[in-house]
Amino acid sequence: MVSQKEFTDAAFNQLLGEGKLMASRCKKCGALHLPPKPICVNCQEGDMEWTILKGKGKLAAFTTIAVGLPRMIQEGYGRDNPYCSGIVELEEGPRISARILDVDARNPQKLKVGMPLVVDFLERGEGENKRTLLAFKPV
Ligand SMILES: [Zn+2]
Repeated sequence: MVSQKEFTDAAFNQLLGEGKLMASRCKKCGALHLPPKPICVNCQEGDMEWTILKGKGKLAAFTTIAVGLPRMIQEGYGRDNPYCSGIVELEEGPRISARILDVDARNPQKLKVGMPLVVDFLERGEGENKRTLLAFKPV
């Protein structure tokens, strides 16, 4: 049960693997935390519940990356094939960094702050190393 999971990055990542983007919500003041936190940064209460987010938002900031992490180079990204990483502001309010898919990272002038995005889940690795990454793509 999701409600019994701790409000950790591990639980958040496990939920991503189930195709769910979830935040922790403070039962006292209603503040949303994404990634989830066990203690509210707004009122310091520790009474949280999981809440599922619609996965809709807009691009708040972005960058294209041509000199990437080794795992991104393994995926074929690099100087001639940059990728896009951004900050997405969700309809519910929280902001989170994520990969931005299905955009032309070679022509970042085509990307617009405020463009509507929808969540996507990227599967990487296999077996024990399988993990799901948070990503967004244009609506
Ligand atoms: Zn609170």
